[in-house]
Amino acid sequence: MYCPRCNTTLEEKNINDLSGSIQVDTCPSCGGTWFDKGELEQIENVVELSIIEIRNIPKKKEQLEKLKCPDCNLHPTLSKHAHQRDKKVIFDYCEICHGIWLDRGELEAIQKDNLLKTISTLFKKMI
Ligand SMILES: [Zn+2]
Ligand SMILES: [Zn+2]
Repeated sequence: MYCPRCNTTLEEKNINDLSGSIQVDTCPSCGGTWFDKGELEQIENVVELSIIEIRNIPKKKEQLEKLKCPDCNLHPTLSKHAHQRDKKVIFDYCEICHGIWLDRGELEAIQKDNLLKTISTLFKKMI
């Protein structure tokens, strides 16, 4: 699979969260991540995206650039959707395979938030 933004070969990576681990495809060059259908929801169920404000999301012009689905044969154009919880975040969604492309920064925020949750969970267990 190739990066819809910069055409670099995507690398498989595991994301660990409280409910287990999921495998996603990330771009080593621009830092974006491709989630297959349902994978993002899996993460979002465990994570509050409350630190969405502080993350380093791409400039608006970059976000609005049209991207093609890396996972479908005919490479349909991904559609743009504003994130429910933060309209400044635009993600790219494939209406054919229901995959989602997240740019760099979004995933970092999710992971950072996850780490905080994991720490607080451990802390509660100790008390
Ligand atoms: Zn890329
Ligand atoms: Zn697709």
